[in-house]
Amino acid sequence: MEEVELPMCIICSQAKPDGIFILSEFICDDCEAEMVRTDVMDERYPFFIGQLKQNLILKNA
Ligand SMILES: [Zn+2]
Repeated sequence: MEEVELPMCIICSQAKPDGIFILSEFICDDCEAEMVRTDVMDERYPFFIGQLKQNLILKNA
């Protein structure tokens, strides 16, 4: 049995088999669906963007 390393979602920090890569960052299907659903005025939106920016800044530091 071969172990497959799953990519870790930057939003929920869980390893998931399905998702997308945005700017080389992995976002699982669940969080991606949540982001698409989330309105700009929604209070969760800044959290998602914050997570993305934080990860990008950390990577580029
Ligand atoms: Zn996720």
